[in-house]
Amino acid sequence: MCSSDLVTVHLPHHRYDITIEPTVLDRLGVLVRNVAPHTRCLLVSDEHVMALHGDHAIGSLEHADYHVIRHILPAGEKHKTLDSVRDAYNTMLDAKLERRSPVIALGGGIVGDMAGFIAATYLRGVPFIQCPTSLLAMVDASVGGKVGVNVPQGKNLVGAFYQPLAVVIDPLVLQTLPPREQRCGMAECVKHAVIRAPDQFDWLHENWPKIQAMLPATLTELVAWNVAIKARVVEADEKETGERAHLNFGHTFAHAIESTRGYGIIEHGEAVALGMVAATKLAIDTDRCPADTLPKLTALLTKIGLPIKTKLAPIEQLMQAMQLDKKVADSHLRLVLPDRLGAVSVINNATPNQLETAWKFIRE
Ligand code: NAD
Repeated sequence: MCSSDLVTVHLPHHRYDITIEPTVLDRLGVLVRNVAPHTRCLLVSDEHVMALHGDHAIGSLEHADYHVIRHILPAGEKHKTLDSVRDAYNTMLDAKLERRSPVIALGGGIVGDMAGFIAATYLRGVPFIQCPTSLLAMVDASVGGKVGVNVPQGKNLVGAFYQPLAVVIDPLVLQTLPPREQRCGMAECVKHAVIRAPDQFDWLHENWPKIQAMLPATLTELVAWNVAIKARVVEADEKETGERAHLNFGHTFAHAIESTRGYGIIEHGEAVALGMVAATKLAIDTDRCPADTLPKLTALLTKIGLPIKTKLAPIEQLMQAMQLDKKVADSHLRLVLPDRLGAVSVINNATPNQLETAWKFIRE
């Protein structure tokens, strides 16, 4: 029998449970019925996840007496669009789904973000349940209520804050996740350890072999402590007016790398790993952070198989891309930098020279 965990997210007007338990997909129907007892539901998934885990999820929902309408999206960031959302509305309208019919997201962060946006907007909001299947979606995207789509001008520029009624996580589904996607999810786990949990940094070092071996108890523990960190940050600052910005550690550099190299060439988690290295270099150069933080970080990332150096666009292009990022407030670039392992601060006074040195440090 493997361990299980329950994390509750407490928000001013809403609370919800995140159940983390190997084989909990068997009980998906019951857990959905507990929070959204209707006769029909919409299951949103993508083609990969549907082929691997769709029957299991649908079987469980049908066993709990749901009539399941399916909406299967093509996989990939380029389909995270308003056109895909419109297709889903058509499925829902054709099936005459009503305000009490829950939307269930079964998939990675793309499915979760889109299904959440669909749930937030269809009939001005219907019940929403997250059943994340990628490591990134389990430890990050499914918790906290940010939902949305990409538009030609940029990623995630149209969306809402829309909290789920429940999050159901079966760590066993990670056994089918491609290794590169697993490593990308690990980048967010390293991020959580750096911003809030220095002990978990050592835990990641020790347990990486067991995570790679997909041991159910270790996967459950990994997801549980990460979800708990994300939940506590979201509870403190649901709408990102303050400390939720700490979750952006590494992300301002990452977004500039992704947008200048092209989405799909470098994965988001890989860009986050590089971004965390650049941000830490900047923190050390400006005497904010002990110098040994950098070798500790690069050793862990390398052990996991995440990059610490890469090919980069010219510095001017990277600087320009950083200025276009959402984290620019009143023309000041805001960066999250480590103070030490376990604590970060937001700064807005990095000079072009300091930024250039940080960029050069991660250039291959
Ligand atoms: P993804 O949804 O594309 O999933 C990665 C790939 O793995 C896909 O091909 C998917 O089909 C496949 N997959 C997922 N689960 C699988 C499984 N168990 N077995 C086999 N294959 C599986 O990408 P992602 O990395 O999960 O999520 C990235 C998205 O999440 C981005 O669009 C990003 O903007 C968003 N995101 C949102 C938040 C938030 O707070 N809402 C936070 C971080 C990221």
